[in-house]
Amino acid sequence: MVYHWLLDRLLPERCALCAAPAAPGGLCPGCRRDLPWLAHACPRCARPLPPGAPSGPFGACQRQPPALDACIAALAYELPVDRMVQLLKFHGRLDLAPVLGRLLAEALAERRPPWPWPDLLLPVPLHRRRLHQRGYNQALEIARPLARRWHLALAPQRVRRCRPTPPQSGLDARARRVNLRGAFRVQGRLDGLNLALVDDVMTTGSTLDALARALRRRGARRVEAWVCARTPPPGP
Ligand SMILES: [Zn+2]
Ligand SMILES: [Zn+2]
Repeated sequence: MVYHWLLDRLLPERCALCAAPAAPGGLCPGCRRDLPWLAHACPRCARPLPPGAPSGPFGACQRQPPALDACIAALAYELPVDRMVQLLKFHGRLDLAPVLGRLLAEALAERRPPWPWPDLLLPVPLHRRRLHQRGYNQALEIARPLARRWHLALAPQRVRRCRPTPPQSGLDARARRVNLRGAFRVQGRLDGLNLALVDDVMTTGSTLDALARALRRRGARRVEAWVCARTPPPGP
C-alpha cells in the first residue's frame, strides 16, 4: 500500500498536457474530456467501426481471423495523444508513462471481454540498441500500472527483439511480414498460457501480429494486445 501511495505521489501534480492543476491520473478535467477515446472499434483489430455499426468484429476479421484474439486500443493516435506518446518516446518524459498506462487501464476496465486475466503481461520489446539510446522501454513503463492494478505478472524478459527492424512505412502487408520474420525471440515454452502484449502505439498491427504468431508457436493459448493508441487506418 505504501508503494501505491508513493507511486501516486510521483504522478505530476500539474496536468501533463496544459500545466493546470491536475486531477488524479495526471490530466486536468478539461484535457481528459477532450481525449479521443476509441470506444467503438473492432474487438479483433481495434480499427474504429463506422458510427452506428453494430459492435462486433469486422467481416474481414471474421472471415480471416487475425493472430490476435482481441485487441483493445484505448485512444486514437491524434492530438493530444500523439504528442504525449512522442514526448514519452523522444523527449524523456517518463512521467507520461503512468498517465498513459492509467488511461489504458480505464479502457480495459470498460471494454475488455469478461475473460480470465492473462497469466503474463508482455511489453513489446525494443531492440537493445534502441533501448540503450532511450534508456527505457516505454511499453514496459506503460505496462507497470496495469500489472499493479490487476496483480498481473510482468514478464519483459520472455520476448526479445533480436534485430533492429527497418521502418515499416511504405511497405505493403506482405513485405511487412517478411520484414519482421525472425525479428522476435521467445524464451521458453508458453503452453496453455493466456498472454497480453502491451504497446504504446499500434500502426498497421504487423508488429503485434508477428509477436502473436511467435507466441503461438511456443504454445500460447490466447494472445491479446493492449495498446494506448491506434493510428487512423489507411483509406479503404
Ligand atoms: Zn490539462
Ligand atoms: Zn477487425
